[in-house]
Parts: sequence; structure tokens; C-alpha cells
Amino acid sequence: MSKENILIINCGSSSMKFAVINPATGEEAINGIAERLGSPESLIRWKFEGNKEREELNGGAHDAAVAALLSMLADKGLKDSIAAVGHRVVHGGETFKESCLVNEEVMQAIENCSHLAPLHNPANLIGIKAAQKHFPGLPMSVVFDTSFHQTMPEHAYIYPLPYEFYRDHGVRKYGFHGTSYRFVAKRVCEMLNLEVSNSKVIIGHLGNGASAAAVLNGEGVDTTMGLTPLEGLVMGTRCGNVDPNIYSFLNKEYGYSLDEITDILNKKSGLLGMSELSNDCRAIEEACEEGNKQAQLAMDVFCYVLAKQLAGLMVATGGCDALAFTGGIGENSDAIRGKVLEMLGFMGFEMDAQKNLDCRFGNEGVITSDSSKATAIVVSTNEELMIAKDTAILIG
Ligand code: ADP
Repeated sequence: MSKENILIINCGSSSMKFAVINPATGEEAINGIAERLGSPESLIRWKFEGNKEREELNGGAHDAAVAALLSMLADKGLKDSIAAVGHRVVHGGETFKESCLVNEEVMQAIENCSHLAPLHNPANLIGIKAAQKHFPGLPMSVVFDTSFHQTMPEHAYIYPLPYEFYRDHGVRKYGFHGTSYRFVAKRVCEMLNLEVSNSKVIIGHLGNGASAAAVLNGEGVDTTMGLTPLEGLVMGTRCGNVDPNIYSFLNKEYGYSLDEITDILNKKSGLLGMSELSNDCRAIEEACEEGNKQAQLAMDVFCYVLAKQLAGLMVATGGCDALAFTGGIGENSDAIRGKVLEMLGFMGFEMDAQKNLDCRFGNEGVITSDSSKATAIVVSTNEELMIAKDTAILIG
């Protein structure tokens, strides 16, 4: 069997997403997720040839998930089609400016970045080690969420804090969702016939976690997420930008601990916090239609902050050839896109209501009118394919 596929592994602290992808065609042979790893309910489920299947892992964690994945892939006749494994890694700090093959030095460097992403990098390393154990002899690559943004100029990534925090502890803006931005920026240029080397693209990656980025001539020049994914836009459960003094205020006035406040800002804020209903954009949109005022407020704040930060990013590019929407919300919510384009109307965006409605559920395309002075476009992101392509290039 020809080794045409790449296995993509994306480990979280209690989950592991995976897919087998042909980097040349983009075809996905199988995809799935192992969840609740390390708990009695741990299980692995996947979709193969249109069928959904699952298997209990009986309390197993990442290692058990990779072992089950291996035997399932062997069962389906896919194991021998895999040429390499591509791992998603969240934080590459300033060390990793691009994807690379895994060796001892790389593993150590990822570990050295763990203090910057204490929930994610250790889980990513566990995934790599489990894959090395169960898929011995296969080359492994690592693709970082942060590396795309390493081309940001100093004035975009330095926080106005005492400089020693940057010098001694690496406190700066890093940005995330980089794999998605790399994919979408290229796709936008293809779709609009723009030359990458002469392009100004602003991208909103709007999922449960949401950020936006400014891409100049194919390179990341600014982004809304920061040292951590909490900074920037309003998200499903994260607050995005708020006054940093909120920590001392909630602590001194109301006795919340540091950990409690961190938990509130990351897991109980955003759409969920404001609506007191849900972090899910679809549920918020439905509640708005039913006249729920708090859901409407959550939606208004989400869109206002988004429009304001998208406009701000245009300072980094000095203009905008295309504003791209991607991620679950960006690819599907005509309501949010419509609202944002209306607010950015003064910059020349004129929405085409029908095109906006058409671009949902996997349909890509321009959503501004033919006479619009500025262009907005919907693009389906594919981070797994990007990881597969990087891996294929790295193994030659
Ligand atoms: P993640 O950050 O977890 O990868 P996704 O990119 O899958 O997130 O996006 C999840 C978000 O997309 C959710 O808020 C979900 O409600 C939203 N979404 C998905 N489909 C629609 C839709 N048809 N209309 C509005 N929002 C949608």
C-alpha cells in the first residue's frame, strides 16, 4: 500500500482529536475524538465511510487512546497508508517560528515553553510520546498555533509593562490559531486572485475560542490574542479584553482568589456570562429571535467588540484587500457577519444579503456586493489539512 496519508493528532488535557488525511488531495479517510481521558467514562469515537462508531476505553488516558487508535486503523486497513504523524502543539514561544520534525531537542524545547501554556503543552507532549511508542519508526512533526505570529513587529507584541518581564520571563503577545490563519490567508488570495506578496488580509477566526489577525503579504503582523488565549475578542466563555485591575478589584472587594478569577474570566464569561444562558452562538441566536434581552445584549457586545478590533487590525496592514470570516461562527452566522459589516460600512463594506445567506454550512465566497468598495469573504478553515501539508513537506 502506498504511504499517502498523514495521521493528525491534537491532544488536549482530557481529549485527543485525530484524523487521517491525504495532504495532496485533502481527502479525509477517518476522523474522530477520544474524550474524558483518564476518567471512568473515557471513550474513543470516530467516523469512517459515513458510519459513526465508538469504543469504551475503560478509564484509559492518552496512551490507551493512541493504542486503540492504532488497532482501529489496522482494522480499517489504514495503518499501512500512514507516512507520518503530525501533532498540533499550542505554544512554541519564541523558539518555534515554523513547523518541524520531532527529535529530543524539539521535545525539550516544547517542554521549555510549557510554562506559557501549562494546560496544553504538557498534554501535547504526552500525545507525541504515546504516538512514538505505538507508531515506532514513523516520522513525527509538530505544528504550532503560535508560530505564524512570530513575524509580528516588536511594537505589536511588546506589552507596555516593565521591559524586564519580556526580557526575563517572555511576557509578550504571542497569538494563537496560527495554523488556521496560514491556511485562510493563502485561500483568500487564491479565491480573490490576489498576489500573496502584495496582499492585506484581515481574518476573524470565530469559533468557541475567537481571535482575529492582520496578515500583510502573507505574514502575520498583529493579532488579538496575547500571552494567553484570553486577550482580545469576546468568546464563548472567555471575556477577551477587560481592565486588568479586575483581578485586584474582585480580590480585595469581594474576596475572590486568583484562581477563581482566572476561572471566571476563562470559563464563565463571554457569551455565556453575559447571556446567563449558553456559550453556544446558535443558542444565543435562537434566544435573540425569541426576544431574550440578555441574549441580545451578549450578541451586541460580541459584534461591537469584533468590529472594533477588526478595524483596529487594519492599522497593522495599512488597509484591507479582504476581510475574511472563518471558524464555526464565521463560516455559519450570517447574522453576526451582517452586523459587523454594517458597523464597518463607513470603511466601504456593503453586504450582499443573499450572498451572505448563501455562504453557510461549508459554502465559501464573497459576501459583499459587486459595487462594494471593500471585500468581505467567507472561507472554511482546515487546520488538519494544513498540518498534513506541513508534515508532508517536512518528510519530503
Ligand atoms: P472551536 O473553537 O471549538 O473549534 P468551532 O469553530 O467549531 O469552535 O465553532 C463553534 C461555534 O460555532 C459555536 O459557538 C457554534 O454555536 C457556532 N456555530 C456553528 N454553527 C453555527 C450556525 N449555523 N450559526 C451560528 N453559529 C454557529
